[in-house]
Amino acid sequence: MVQEKGTISINTENIFPIIKKFLYSDHEIFLRELVSNAVDATQKIKRLASLGHYGQELGDLKIRVALDEKAGTLTISDNGIGMTAEEIKKYINQVAFSGATEFMEKFKEAKDANEIIGRFGLGFYSAFMVAEKVEIQTLSYQEGAEPALWTCDGSTEFELTTGSRTERGTDVILYINEESKEFLEQSRIEDILNKYAKFLPVPVQFGTREESEPDGEDAEGKPKYKTVTVDNIINNTNPIWTKAPGDLKDEDYLSFYRELYPFSEEPLFWIHLNVDYPFNLTGVLYFPKLKNDFEIQKNKIKLFSRQVFITDEVKDIVPEFLMLLHGVIDSPDIPLNVSRSFLQADSNVKKINSYISRKVADKLGELFRKDRKAYEEKWNDIGLFVKYGALSDEKFYEKAKHFLLLNNTAQEFYTLEEYNARVKDFQTGKNGTLVYLYTFDAERQHGYVQAANRKNYDVLLMNSPIDTHFIQFLETKLEKTSLKRVDADVLDKLIEKEETEKHTLSEDDQQKLKAIFEKAIGNPLMKVEVDSLPAEAMPVTITMEEWMRRMKDMSKLGGGMNFYGNLPDSYKVSVNANHKLIGKILSADETAQINLAKHAFDLALLSQGMLKGADLTAFVERSVEVI
Ligand code: ADP
Repeated sequence: MVQEKGTISINTENIFPIIKKFLYSDHEIFLRELVSNAVDATQKIKRLASLGHYGQELGDLKIRVALDEKAGTLTISDNGIGMTAEEIKKYINQVAFSGATEFMEKFKEAKDANEIIGRFGLGFYSAFMVAEKVEIQTLSYQEGAEPALWTCDGSTEFELTTGSRTERGTDVILYINEESKEFLEQSRIEDILNKYAKFLPVPVQFGTREESEPDGEDAEGKPKYKTVTVDNIINNTNPIWTKAPGDLKDEDYLSFYRELYPFSEEPLFWIHLNVDYPFNLTGVLYFPKLKNDFEIQKNKIKLFSRQVFITDEVKDIVPEFLMLLHGVIDSPDIPLNVSRSFLQADSNVKKINSYISRKVADKLGELFRKDRKAYEEKWNDIGLFVKYGALSDEKFYEKAKHFLLLNNTAQEFYTLEEYNARVKDFQTGKNGTLVYLYTFDAERQHGYVQAANRKNYDVLLMNSPIDTHFIQFLETKLEKTSLKRVDADVLDKLIEKEETEKHTLSEDDQQKLKAIFEKAIGNPLMKVEVDSLPAEAMPVTITMEEWMRRMKDMSKLGGGMNFYGNLPDSYKVSVNANHKLIGKILSADETAQINLAKHAFDLALLSQGMLKGADLTAFVERSVEVI
C-alpha cells in the first residue's frame, strides 16, 4: 500500500546525478555521514532518557554495520530515536536549498565532496554517491509511533509507506551501485570504519569474530578454553582525550600513542589540550623523537569532531611549526565536512591555532623550569620545534626566548640571556659588536674550535638543518651581536681587539711571501693574505667569508635563487707572518720555498678536511719521504 509519493523539495532538476558524477573523490565518506547520523540518533535518545522524556528501556545502545553481498546491500542500523513519517518528510525530503541557480553557483566554487555536503546539509544524501537505491526503515521512540519505510532510487521521486521495523531505531539500507562494488567488500568497509569510526562514543559493531574464553578446568586441573563468537566492536568509545587529565597516568598516554602509531618510537612528552571558551577543543599532542627527515612524519595529527575522524590534514588549524607533532585534536566547532576554504575563513580556526601555539609554549616553559636537566637532555629533539616556532611565530618567540637553548661544543646549555652574560666580556670586539662563534661540526673543525677555546672564546654548536635560518634570525633579535662560524676568518679578525699582533715582516717580505704561496698553491680561487697572528697559531689557515658561506648554505637548502650556489668556492688563505716557519721559508732556496709553502698549505687543507684525492696521496707520499 503506497501511502505517499512525492518529490524531494529541491528547486533544481535533480541533484543526485551531480552528487554522483562530480563528487568522485572521497566517496567513502558516505559511511562516515551515515554512521554519524546513527551516533546522533543514539545520543539523542540517551539525552531524552536522562531528561526523563523517555521512560522505556534504552537497551544495548549500539550501531551495527552489516554487509549482505548476495543482496548487494550495506546496512547501517541504530537503536536511537528513530523517525516518524512526518519527521522523514521534514528532515529527509526537504533538502534545504534556496534555489537552483544559487545551488549551481555555489557548486561551481566548491572544491570537493566535503564542501558540497557541508554547505548544503547533504550528509544523508551522500549515500547516493554509492547507492542506486536507499531505504530507510525506521520506528520512532514516540509512544504509538508507526514504523515507516522511505525508498528513493536516486531520482527526485521518493516513496513513503508503512515500514516493518518493530524496535525503536533506524536501518539505512544502501543498494550499492555498479561502480561502487568495492563497498561490498568486508575489508574495505573495515578500513573505512577504522579510519572514521575508531573513537566514536557509541559502540559500532561490524560482523563477528571468534574469541577464546575460559571454560572451567580439565581432568588435570588445567584451565580449559572454548571458542565463542562475539560481536566485533571496532571502536574505543572512551579515548583518552575525552577524559580529565587528572584521571590519567603516563602509561595511559603512552598506550594511546601506541594505539595511534603502532610502529613509532615512544614520544618525548605530551600536552593534554582542554578548553571550552571561546571555543571547544580537547586533544592530546605528542612530541615525537625527531629524525632529520621530517617530511615523513608530517600529517600525523588527526582532527576529530565529537570523536568522528575528519582529516589528518590539519594544516590550517595547527601552526605550521607544530605540524611535526603527533596526536589528536577534537573540536565540535569544526564541522564534519570541513573544507579548505572554510578553514581559512573561519575565525575560530585562527583562535585554535594561536591557542595551540600558546599551550605548547607554556608546556615547554614548564618543562624547562621544572626539570632543566631533563629538558636539556631532550633538547636535540625539542630544539627543532622551538627554533622553527621562534622563526615563524613572533608570539611564540616572545615566550620561547626564555627556554630556547644554545649549546656549545662542551655540551653546556645556555638560555639566550645566560649566553650573553657568559661571553660578553671576552668576545666583544673593539667596535662594540659581540661575536658568537659557532661550528657545524666540532670534530671536523676541531683545530679552529681549539684555537678559539685557547683564547677563552666559546664555540656554539649549530648543526641542525634549521640552524642556517636560525643564525640569521638570532642576529635580528640580539642587540649588537653577530654570529660567525669559526672558519669564517682567522680569530683575530673574527673578533677584532684593540691590541693586535705587530707585523714582524717588512712590507717587502710580505709581498715576497704572498708571491711564494700563490705560486705554490697555483689556484686563483685561493686568495692569499699575510696576517699578523700569534706565533703559536697555525702557519696557514683557510677560511671562507661568513656571508659567502651563508649564501651558499641557503641556496643548498633550496631557496630558489641559485646564484650563490653556483659560484665556485673561494677561500681566503691566511699566512701567519709571525710563525717561525715563515722565516725559514723566506731564507730557503727557491725550490725549498715552494715545497715548504705547499706543505704548510696542505696541512691547512688537511685540518679542514679539504685535502682529497690526488692531492692527498701526493701529500702523504711527500710526508713519508720527509720521515
Ligand atoms: P544533518 O545530519 O547534517 O542534519 P543529514 O542529511 O545527514 O543532515 O540528516 C538530516 C536529518 O535526518 C538529521 O538531522 C536527523 O534529524 C535525521 N536523521 C538522519 N539519520 C537519522 C537516523 N539514523 N536516525 C534518526 N534521525 C536521522
